[in-house]
Amino acid sequence: MHANHRKVLTEVLSLPTVPFGEHAVIEYIRRFCKRRPALSLTEDQAGNMLVRYRRGRGTIRHPVCLTAHLDHPGFTAERMTGARNLRARWRGGVRREYFVGSRIRFPVGDRWVRGVVKSVRARGRGKEARVETAGVTVGSPVPKGAVGMWDLPGPRIGDRLVRAPACDDLAGVAGMLCCLEHLCRQRVAGEGYFLFTRAEEVGFIGALAACRLRTIPAKCIVVAVETSSELPGARIGNGPVLRVGDRTSVYTPAATAFCRTVADGLVRRDRSFAYQRKLMDGGTCEAAVYCELGFQATGICLALGNYHNMDVKRRRIASEYVSTGDFENLEKWFVALVKSGRSYTGHDRGFHARLRKLEKEHAKLLRATR
Ligand SMILES: [Zn+2]
Repeated sequence: MHANHRKVLTEVLSLPTVPFGEHAVIEYIRRFCKRRPALSLTEDQAGNMLVRYRRGRGTIRHPVCLTAHLDHPGFTAERMTGARNLRARWRGGVRREYFVGSRIRFPVGDRWVRGVVKSVRARGRGKEARVETAGVTVGSPVPKGAVGMWDLPGPRIGDRLVRAPACDDLAGVAGMLCCLEHLCRQRVAGEGYFLFTRAEEVGFIGALAACRLRTIPAKCIVVAVETSSELPGARIGNGPVLRVGDRTSVYTPAATAFCRTVADGLVRRDRSFAYQRKLMDGGTCEAAVYCELGFQATGICLALGNYHNMDVKRRRIASEYVSTGDFENLEKWFVALVKSGRSYTGHDRGFHARLRKLEKEHAKLLRATR
């Protein structure tokens, strides 16, 4: 991995973030953009961030807009109910049985305050139960609003796997920033948009606002970048996944075909590049929202282990992980998408041409044999 990318990935995966408490990641992206004059950053009224990259002449009719979300399931400190007792709000999809006894930590000033979850309050029953608040025993007082995450080791980038307290969706955010780093460093000609949304884990709140506020230029082809639970046929290490749809819907065929054509081009040029193509129906992703609200949209994701920190085998909270190689290929794919923005026509030209050729070749035989 390029040293600059390793640095960005490590730094982003170290940041604490929860729905409605994405400030650390937002601040990081602000500083990232400030250092790179080729980038222009705007923030909408909902706090979503849109970065535009542009170099070279001419306009692109349908530039790519990559989008990732800034948050991860976690705690927000509400109030101290005793000298060592904290009540914390929980937001995100983690099953109730993982909470009690698990260790968590809050950044307070320049250190961590650690604690243990002692109790939870949930709405609903059985598998449907959704945790809303937790009682936490803490080492020292935690101020209201502090962001709490599971007390897991910091990010480790190995040859095979990247492990971190939150790969969902910080690995997606890091992948987009690495792409921007590459575009700026290599002075690549092209135009691309990079949207970072808030509060996805509680129901795509930032993405919905971005659509309502017209944060994303209407001309863009939206590619939602996610991590998604590993599935049979979409394995960790076999390449980033072109996500043709999710549990709710399938995405815009032409947008999916565009990403596939770009990936096929990479496969031909670069022997280390691989990708997969799959309906990832483990959950619903922001691409479904963009499609529903009128965009041509599709998704690309990294197959993820220990989805939402749930180590299902050991039945305990654990680091999430993705493949190091998949991450590197994700970044290559993003760069190629921005470079190829000009070639998007709204339909799958290659496939259309192939069909016409087949039809022509067999027309005579079809008539002669009827
Ligand atoms: Zn998630």
